[in-house]
Amino acid sequence: IDAIEIDHVTKTYLTKRDERQALGPITFNVTSGEMVAVVGPSGCGKSTLLSLIAGLMPVTSGEIRLFGEPVKGPSPRIGYMLQRDGLLEWRTVEENIALGLEIRGQKTRKNLEHARYLLKEMGLASVIQHYPSQLSGGMRQRVALVRTMAVQPDILLLDEPFSAVDYQNKLHLEKLLVSIRRQHKITTVLITHDLEEALALADRIIVLSRRPGQIRRMITLPEEVR
Ligand code: ADP
Ligand code: ADP
Repeated sequence: IDAIEIDHVTKTYLTKRDERQALGPITFNVTSGEMVAVVGPSGCGKSTLLSLIAGLMPVTSGEIRLFGEPVKGPSPRIGYMLQRDGLLEWRTVEENIALGLEIRGQKTRKNLEHARYLLKEMGLASVIQHYPSQLSGGMRQRVALVRTMAVQPDILLLDEPFSAVDYQNKLHLEKLLVSIRRQHKITTVLITHDLEEALALADRIIVLSRRPGQIRRMITLPEEVR
């Protein structure tokens, strides 16, 4: 059974002014443990696609299934990370992560321990008591990655997670992501403008057409490129 099934999905936004078909129809599956990168022009519906998979809004038609179960709302099995780190400035690193777990009803001892392990893994052990403003952009994004991973998700949704950090930090974050995914076999959908990043990280690249985004190309990368 595939981790993610996108089955003839469309999304149309209704605003006061107009009706805008943002995505689809689009159909593809992501197998368990696979990383798919989604690329395409700005406005073609990439963020929309991730929000739909995350269950943050309903599809207009079609169906999305996660491990065979239709998406009906946000799921604790999903970790969702955006370009903006969303850290609360008046909370320490530790508090940000604990609060992230609490909001999702996932503040268990096991998850807190996992978060501590990830903080060490990502070289953040010494800044646990720091406030976000005391950290570099790359470090902040690493903290956001820990916050996302602390729930031990089966599925990771990444919306241009590294596009706001400098090149060196981006490479570092990519390396961390690869090693974490290897260890935990996490199914991942990555949105990126960065073809180099897609080639370095993904098993498969899906290229969307202009809005409403439909699949234009699907490229499976040979093992040796990765
Ligand atoms: P980006 O393409 O950089 O991700 P956004 O997703 O923030 O940019 O917005 C892209 C376009 O989507 C905006 O120019 C706007 O027309 C439309 N849009 C985004 N959010 C809304 C909203 N809540 N209501 C209406 N239109 C929106
Ligand atoms: P991408 O992530 O590929 O830049 P988006 O998914 O953000 O594309 O947006 C796809 C289309 O849907 C765009 O035309 C955008 O303007 C529109 N859009 C996005 N969010 C909203 C919204 N909340 N309300 C109305 N239109 C939206």
